[in-house]
Amino acid sequence: MNYSQAVRKIVSDYRRRISEYEQAELDLMEQNAEFKKCELSLRELKLKKAKGEKINERNLSELEAQNKKIRKSTGLVPPAPNCKVCGDTGRVNGRFCDCAVKLSIASQTGEIGIPLHKFEEVDYSVYGEKADEYRKLFGNIATICSNYPNNKKRCLVISGSTGNGKTYLAGCAVQKVLERGMSVMALTAFSANNRFLKFHTSFDNDKYEYLDPMIDCALLVIDDLGTESILKNVTIEYLYQVINERNTIGKLTLITTNLGHNDILTRYGERIYSRLFDKSLSYAVAIKGKDIRSAL
Ligand SMILES: [Zn+2]
Repeated sequence: MNYSQAVRKIVSDYRRRISEYEQAELDLMEQNAEFKKCELSLRELKLKKAKGEKINERNLSELEAQNKKIRKSTGLVPPAPNCKVCGDTGRVNGRFCDCAVKLSIASQTGEIGIPLHKFEEVDYSVYGEKADEYRKLFGNIATICSNYPNNKKRCLVISGSTGNGKTYLAGCAVQKVLERGMSVMALTAFSANNRFLKFHTSFDNDKYEYLDPMIDCALLVIDDLGTESILKNVTIEYLYQVINERNTIGKLTLITTNLGHNDILTRYGERIYSRLFDKSLSYAVAIKGKDIRSAL
């Protein structure tokens, strides 16, 4: 499902719930004579008032109170939109709302490519004497994910060798942002690279489905950057585009990598390096052995 299809689904689901409500209202009028009388009189009074005719205001408020009471006792409540941001229109300020992005991503199978964990359930004792450092690191990432978008940090880079908890930490971040109802894509560097390649080699309009969700989701995780092959005119170009656009529109990106910072500079070049390690936007941490060092 692409974004436009997701928007259509959101809009039509809401319309369906409204028409179900309207049907339930008609049914109640059929079954409940008191409600029918009250509802019809109320509609008539409101119509008169709208036309500017003089009406009995006290009568109006009494009918309104009675109507409300019957509706409440019979459970007839108008449906609220599922998304408070866009009111189930799927769009906000001329862009696709995050609810549409989320639905589109959810319709594509297997996009959460890493195991999920909860910050609240991390067992720091496995980190031995470094437990406090890890607690602090996990706590910082948890805070950034909990406060997003009301904080400055947008680009989180966790580097260090295999087996020191980077992917575990990413799994906690994903869970936290999902719990907040926001859209998440978590890809291995390999599958991110595949998307870049598919985008690059497709010539129809559907090709944007490969790239757009990577740019628009609230949190993008690229796990194990550096394990993918560098494809000429593809990997570095689209990786830059994705990271740069996400930084610009203020989306949260988390990258884990075995590479050191110099290796990143050598492999991906200055442009990507400067976006990943922008002092004002980035939170970069290097885990060496089991030592954690803030890298900025
Ligand atoms: Zn929405």
